[in-house]
Amino acid sequence: MTRSLSTTQPVRPGVVQQGISLLAYNTFRFHYQAEYFALAETLESLKELLAWANHQQLEVTIIGGGSNLLISADIRGLVIINQLSGIKSRELGNNRVSLTVAAGENWHHVVEHAVNQGWFGIENLALIPGTTGAAPVQNIGAYGVEVKDAIARVQVIDRISGDVYWVLAVDCGFAYRDSHFKGKWKDKYCITSVEFSLKKRSDFVLSYGGLANQITGDLSLLNVFRAVCKIRSEKLPDPNELANSGSFFKNPIVDPAKHDELKAAFPNLVSFPFGDDYKLAAGWLIDQAGWKGKKYQGVGVYEKQALVLVNYSEESAQALLALEAKIKASVFERYGVELEREPVQLPLLTTNPIDHGESIS
Ligand SMILES: Cc1cc2nc3c(=O)[nH]c(=O)nc-3n(C[C@H](O)[C@H](O)[C@H](O)COP(=O)(O)OP(=O)(O)OC[C@H]3O[C@@H](n4cnc5c(N)ncnc54)[C@H](O)[C@@H]3O)c2cc1C
Repeated sequence: MTRSLSTTQPVRPGVVQQGISLLAYNTFRFHYQAEYFALAETLESLKELLAWANHQQLEVTIIGGGSNLLISADIRGLVIINQLSGIKSRELGNNRVSLTVAAGENWHHVVEHAVNQGWFGIENLALIPGTTGAAPVQNIGAYGVEVKDAIARVQVIDRISGDVYWVLAVDCGFAYRDSHFKGKWKDKYCITSVEFSLKKRSDFVLSYGGLANQITGDLSLLNVFRAVCKIRSEKLPDPNELANSGSFFKNPIVDPAKHDELKAAFPNLVSFPFGDDYKLAAGWLIDQAGWKGKKYQGVGVYEKQALVLVNYSEESAQALLALEAKIKASVFERYGVELEREPVQLPLLTTNPIDHGESIS
């Protein structure tokens, strides 16, 4: 394994470098460094990098597009940016098609590709930033569809042994914004490829988020895709223009008793049945608690969607962590509901964020 001690850009595929900023690799645009850093463009290169890190007894952190991360300190060990590429498809019987996508492929391009081919199943997940390899990690979802419903199996590399094998979707522990890749397999596997099973006949899910009303023209795959893209671009900030990581909190799940109690106190409460329980709209809770559009130091709550926290000018995550703590405390005080963060914090912190006690404007 070649190792470069250069502290300057540009980064070079397959080469371990030091002193590389992670600014370009997280959509919150926080400015922290990786102790060691490498881009993996092929499976062979990924294997070599993992073997090198094992040999050096270094921790490994995998990053895709960095759009679901809250980096809050320099990261020790080796940070690998997954850029594995390649897409292939094959016909299955029963009006189904198999689409196998390497983990570093851009997710939205994969959705576009499927739509262009006339393959149904992931069109509601258009414009979600990031890589295909990260999609199973938190089981990405939007407009009533979760990616688990289209996944057949996931290819992984064991980070220690370097063995590569396939895990069936049913064994991945998929749940609401969750999977074993986020939990018990977090440090065990890196996802290298995902196989989807898509449909060649229409099977639209249109009942969420006003999607049905936004479709112009015929009810076609392309028009559903276009409607999703339109709604999302109107509602969510583009991370290339305003740093953010999408929804900052998960929608809380409450039992029927808590739901009834909240509904009595807040008749306009926005909630959806979720199995035997109810899912509350976290954005509504935060908005109603008065946070939409508020700024705190160089960060804030997005003016069009209270679920999204944005970074206007901070280089470190401190202000954002403090704002998060304030929002959580205020929502808990008002509704008795605990908000849970969606983005993954790297590296895991054991200390509480510093609150400078400055005012919210
Ligand atoms: C504007 C905006 C809108 C968004 N909208 C949605 C939405 O509607 N629905 C939704 O579900 N999410 C949404 N997100 C969150 C994010 O886009 C998804 O979670 C996405 O899948 C993250 O992909 P990524 O490649 O950027 O992952 P990263 O942020 O790089 O990584 C996320 C986590 O996955 C791990 N990881 C990444 N790649 C691999 C791999 N190959 N193997 C193992 N672990 C890996 C990382 O270590 C990290 O823990 C949104 C984000 C933004 C910025």
